[in-house]
Amino acid sequence: MKTKKVSIVICCFNEEQCIVQTIEAVHGIMVKSDYDFEIICVDDGSDDSTLNMLKNMAKPETNVFYIELSRNFGKDNAMLAGMQYAKGNAVITIDADLQHPPELIPTMLTLWEGGNDVVFAYRENKNHHVNYLGQVSSSLFYKLMNHLSEIELEDGIADYRLIDQKVKDVLCNLYDEHPFFRGLVKWAGFKQQAIPYVPNARVSGQTKYNRRGLLKLAFRGITSFSTKPLYIALYLGFFFAVVALLLVPYIAISYFCGYSVPGWASMMLFTAFFEGLQLCILGIIGLYLGKVFTQVKYRPNYIVRSTNFE
Ligand code: UDP
Ligand code: MG
Repeated sequence: MKTKKVSIVICCFNEEQCIVQTIEAVHGIMVKSDYDFEIICVDDGSDDSTLNMLKNMAKPETNVFYIELSRNFGKDNAMLAGMQYAKGNAVITIDADLQHPPELIPTMLTLWEGGNDVVFAYRENKNHHVNYLGQVSSSLFYKLMNHLSEIELEDGIADYRLIDQKVKDVLCNLYDEHPFFRGLVKWAGFKQQAIPYVPNARVSGQTKYNRRGLLKLAFRGITSFSTKPLYIALYLGFFFAVVALLLVPYIAISYFCGYSVPGWASMMLFTAFFEGLQLCILGIIGLYLGKVFTQVKYRPNYIVRSTNFE
């Protein structure tokens, strides 16, 4: 008699080339385990045949369920949808492209049984299957993130994790317009255990994130967890205001000695510089204001178009 249930959430966005293989791999591992399970596939607005494949696989005897979102809502929102439907005593989130080795699931389950509420995987051996630019930008992101915010994120932390039901309940009841679960899970606390993994190559298909998308994610990650950039703006503004004050005698002397016209170039330079600085500070303030703006609208994080859940 299997007493505990584990939900596995797989978010899919145009994954027709790998999704069947991934579900089969996860299924193969879970049938051998001591747990009852459900595999919840969230179709995040794919425009290829991913959804049809999911519908074909979603039968009661396979324990596979699908949730079709009305459009692409982004990975974190899709994960939230999957978690909110999950009924398991623990929820595991895993990528659809087999970059997260499913063989790690039994280890996660053992650690969970050992009293951990969160077991998360972080990418070890970063030379594998990630290009150089990807590595540098990713490690820069984590350095910046850790420096600027109160939470500490491991370099290479992935969205591959097991969370206990009680952690899931916390995460599902936060209202965040743009949830960033890698950070939120850390923020939630509880007993956490990190385990390293070596990423596989994406079995097929293409990464869904481009550089611009990653930059957006980085800004979102930082502004979700930290108001320090606002202070940086304040200090910078203060510093340059003092510098500008120091320039006053110079301007006065130039004026009284009739050098004001030759000074024009340097004045222009400074003006341009300060305008730039102001814009930069306004931009930072704008980022936060934008977050308040989108947050107060209280729009749902995702909209479900169809599902085979009752
Ligand atoms: N994904 C998603 N919605 C998106 C983008 C990605 O559900 O808008 C899913 C995608 O199908 C995959 C996982 O998130 O299962 C990770 O995406 P990807 O492999 O493209 O990212 P990378 O591994 O390159 O960070
Ligand atoms: Mg991937």
